[in-house]
Amino acid sequence: MMNKERKIELFKEKCQTKGIKLTPQRLLIYEELINSTEHPTAERIYSSITQKFPTISLDTVHRTLETFCTIGVATMAEGLGNSKRFEGNMDNHHHVHCVQCGMIHDVYDANYDQLLVPPQVSQEFKILKKIVHLEGICRKCQTEYENMD
Ligand SMILES: [Zn+2]
Ligand SMILES: [Zn+2]
Repeated sequence: MMNKERKIELFKEKCQTKGIKLTPQRLLIYEELINSTEHPTAERIYSSITQKFPTISLDTVHRTLETFCTIGVATMAEGLGNSKRFEGNMDNHHHVHCVQCGMIHDVYDANYDQLLVPPQVSQEFKILKKIVHLEGICRKCQTEYENMD
């Protein structure tokens, strides 16, 4: 895994080669994204940068994150519309999602990386990415459950 300085360097390079202007807002949004391990929504990032950039709109943050996905410096973890979850972790990995609190953890597993695509799928699709999505209840939420009885 890359350190943050290196990621930011690569981000700057990518903006340049893709012809995306490197504004302070974009850099800040990118930094927020890679500093977070929680696969934040646009709203989450918006609320944490709005003190520094009171004029920025949620829509701008959302469009910026989508631009990041298009140029390949971020990816969408899951979700649709406004509940899309983004991340700047471009390493090959999988997810476990807590159905209770919505937290998403990264999962690294060599067996998952090597999953075979069923032939009936590979005949129809050119597969770009294989991600295993696990759902469960995280430790914190399990404790809350136990305390309820
Ligand atoms: Zn949870
Ligand atoms: Zn992830």
